[in-house]
Amino acid sequence: MTSLPTYADVEAAAARIAGVAHKTPVLTSTTADQALGCKLFFKAENFQRMGAFKFRGGYNSVAKFTPEQKKTGVVAYSSGNHAQAVALAAKILGVPAVIVMPHDAPAAKVAATKGYGAEVVSYDRYSEDREAIGAKLSAERGLTIIPPYNHPDVIAGQGTAAKELIEEVGPLDYVFAPVGGGGLISGTALSAKALCPDCKVIGVEPAAGNDAQRSLAEGRIVHIDTPKTIADGAQTQHIGDLTYTIMKYNLAEIRTATDAELIEAMGFFATRMKIVVEPTGCLGFAAAKQIAPALAGKRVGIILSGGNVDMTRFCELLAG
Ligand SMILES: *Cc1c(COP(=O)(O)O)cnc(C)c1O
Repeated sequence: MTSLPTYADVEAAAARIAGVAHKTPVLTSTTADQALGCKLFFKAENFQRMGAFKFRGGYNSVAKFTPEQKKTGVVAYSSGNHAQAVALAAKILGVPAVIVMPHDAPAAKVAATKGYGAEVVSYDRYSEDREAIGAKLSAERGLTIIPPYNHPDVIAGQGTAAKELIEEVGPLDYVFAPVGGGGLISGTALSAKALCPDCKVIGVEPAAGNDAQRSLAEGRIVHIDTPKTIADGAQTQHIGDLTYTIMKYNLAEIRTATDAELIEAMGFFATRMKIVVEPTGCLGFAAAKQIAPALAGKRVGIILSGGNVDMTRFCELLAG
């Protein structure tokens, strides 16, 4: 196992992405506060460059390449947002990028990745192994692999969102963030534990695929089939050894949310807060609602992880 990232790595990542990534706004909603009986702070990563927090980890990773690695290029595999993040980071840094994407990835995400100048290689996510495809491309062409979550530079970069949130609003009692492979929640935990050690860090998975929850309960990394859920940013089959370890020691709990709960949250964000949050980005708020009585009077951070959803799909989901 590569060594675990620390909060010092999050601070270094923050310096590296400064002036390149957006310092996204923290939104509040009186309606939401009243509904849940607590004070909520929404970190709006749907307003991040390329529409999700993943730009933070992607840029931090590619920016750390040696001149030789930068010249040869980067390869990434992803169901969408990590692909766009690495493609955009590579474009900004002048590094060639190859992105391995599932053939059924949302059209907007594939188009955006190509738009950033990356070469896209597609595969069948239900039958092919994207990690093997990435490894083959790396071996054949000398490309450096940037995995979507199990990498110290990726985790450290993702942690900068919670760092900004807590530095802006002050100590939190709870922070909720989605869990796919666990990069975001791991980085969030590093920042929360450094800046407000008593903060309870809660990860949230789609109910259709609770592999991280099971992994922590069973004490080993559980592998599952690709879960069928509208939370396409969290359709991972397993967490990584780095993210497993950070989650194990720093999370208060992992909860799950159903697709119906995500749609309800998505509708709330659109109607009451006038923002587009993709289904995966709704996981944190959906889980906070479940345990509202426990949050009474508390200061609660919610990472809205992204806003990349096709508009036709968004409307279909809200129309039921
Ligand atoms: C990737 C992603 C997640 C999950 O992040 P992990 O680091 O894989 O746990 C959550 N929300 C959105 C919008 C994402 O793109």
